[in-house]
Amino acid sequence: MTKKRSGLESRKEARLSSTYHSPQVDVDIRLNTNESPYSAPLGFIEDVKKAIEDASLNRYPDRNAVDLRQAIADYHSCNVNNVFCANGSNEVIQTLLFSFVSSGDEVVVFEPTYALHSHISKIAGASLIVGERNANFQVDEDEIVKILDRSEPKIIFFCSPNNPTGNLESYEVVKRTLEMFSGIVVVDEAYVQFAEFNFVELLKEYDNLVIIRTFSKTWGLAGLRLGYGLSSSSIAAELFNTVLPYHLNSLTQRIGIAALNYEQEMLERVALMKEDRGNLINGLENMGVEVFPSESNFILFRPNMSPKIVWESLVKKSILIRDCSSWPRLEGCLRVSVGTRLENEVFLTSLAEIIDESK
Ligand SMILES: *Cc1c(COP(=O)(O)O)cnc(C)c1O
Repeated sequence: MTKKRSGLESRKEARLSSTYHSPQVDVDIRLNTNESPYSAPLGFIEDVKKAIEDASLNRYPDRNAVDLRQAIADYHSCNVNNVFCANGSNEVIQTLLFSFVSSGDEVVVFEPTYALHSHISKIAGASLIVGERNANFQVDEDEIVKILDRSEPKIIFFCSPNNPTGNLESYEVVKRTLEMFSGIVVVDEAYVQFAEFNFVELLKEYDNLVIIRTFSKTWGLAGLRLGYGLSSSSIAAELFNTVLPYHLNSLTQRIGIAALNYEQEMLERVALMKEDRGNLINGLENMGVEVFPSESNFILFRPNMSPKIVWESLVKKSILIRDCSSWPRLEGCLRVSVGTRLENEVFLTSLAEIIDESK
């Protein structure tokens, strides 16, 4: 008799690799998850209090989050039907996969990239095709042609700027992909306000493009869990057909609307962090560390010594960064987020000490 499969046996493929989780260590300086180092403007906190008072929490939220979607549509000068909101951009991606990918359908990611694209694809039962990036971490058109020659993916993921490498995707290559490929092309723009260009204009030309945005990084609201997708109205309508009813709570909807009134403050902070990013890159380069260019609020770098020792020594100094060295194609690499000016200085001084001591 064959052994009965236990009902308690979990789906191994649905597990997130243990090397992905960033340890939530209690430290003074947290530069590991690319959050904004700045707390919300005071006026915004007052708006949040008001939003709580006004939300009738005995009632279910607006199922279609119309007011929030309209506010986002106004922000992007598009139609409300082009906007889909969810609990973080991760839920947007999940809904997209549940809507368009059946078990065994192929999904393309280009590594190294944001781990959640492949993780959520696997949860959805997709069969993953892993494309490669070139030495500058960009995707060559040849690579896409090669993949499309031998497979029929439903979704191709891009990430611009790409996490964890920091570079933008090539405008030409994404445009060519949209032309060559009839499935859905996702461009995850979680960090786009830190970069030189975005792909939103292409929404007018291509109805198979989905742009993903989040309030977690540039808007400084990682704790809120709010993200959205911009797409053709037909794709957005499919997302509404699949997502669980009342998934986006009333407070998130109201607070998201309030946040959009503080765009100016957000942009000022982004400008400050871009300037500080330059100083951080200079500081790292002055230590003789290999630094990859960044269009984002984080920097990938490769010290001339064991990344594990660097990471552990920084934790001892109460500084947390991200150890990417066990991720495929990122041997020896660490990633640091741009913090406050003081945090960046403490990080640079500490790293210099660690490198000196190792000599
Ligand atoms: C941080 C990050 C997100 C944010 O996910 P949320 O669920 O919105 O918090 C999305 N995409 C990328 C590439 C990220 O690095």
